Amino acid sequence: MDSTQLLDAVADQCRQAKRILFITGAGLSADSGLPTYRGIGGLYGNRLTRHGVSIEEALSGAMMARRPEVSWAYLAQIEASCRGAQPNAAHRAIARLAGERPGSMVLTQNVDGFHRDVGTPNLVEIHGNLHKLVCTECGRGRSVPDYAGLQMPPGCLTCGGILRPEVVLFGEDLPRDGILRLEHMLAEGVDLVISVGTSSAFPYIAGPVVWAAEAGVPTVEINPGETRVSAAVSHRLRMGAASAFGEILARLDAGAKEAAHR
Ligand SMILES: [Zn+2]
Repeated sequence: MDSTQLLDAVADQCRQAKRILFITGAGLSADSGLPTYRGIGGLYGNRLTRHGVSIEEALSGAMMARRPEVSWAYLAQIEASCRGAQPNAAHRAIARLAGERPGSMVLTQNVDGFHRDVGTPNLVEIHGNLHKLVCTECGRGRSVPDYAGLQMPPGCLTCGGILRPEVVLFGEDLPRDGILRLEHMLAEGVDLVISVGTSSAFPYIAGPVVWAAEAGVPTVEINPGETRVSAAVSHRLRMGAASAFGEILARLDAGAKEAAHR
């Protein structure tokens, strides 16, 4: 199948599907100018941070508890790399496709909040969101547009405790609510799984794709590179997210126009 036929086939699958599970990662936000990295660690490769620990240690739950200023130094760098960037056409396309198909779900590993910014329905931010801060003492939360002007590490306005973002740090558990919602969705059945811009390094990210493929559910991967699920999917688009969704939506819109004229 050449790429035109492949895009036609994927658009057909989208047209027929009533419930789509979208699984997204850093590659989706690459079209917004954000760095793609394997989790948070890729910003540093294998080098130690200036605090003499690995980035995984610096961004671990244990470090946040013991030396929050260390964790915050790197969280602030990550936030700064997102600042000023905007959601792109692929975020909007996913929000539209999911919105037109109630019962769909968007499972993202991204902590940039872009899916939320474009009003994506039934969103699971499985690694949290950098812009939601919560007090480690009293549990009160607040949202911030960015970290500009925050004292480091930021303190709670109510009790003076240290705030942290509601993200999953290394060594911490995934949010139980998000996992339950994903399990519930899979149990109710999906018609199509679309994996976008993720290397699928984590089992809870690769798992639903492989499970769907084995169950005979159509699966699509949108990624310029080779990943752990590339061999398993039924449709593989070796493209960036924004251009792939541009092609898919153009086909859906052309099909809808044709049907209206019939
Ligand atoms: Zn507090």
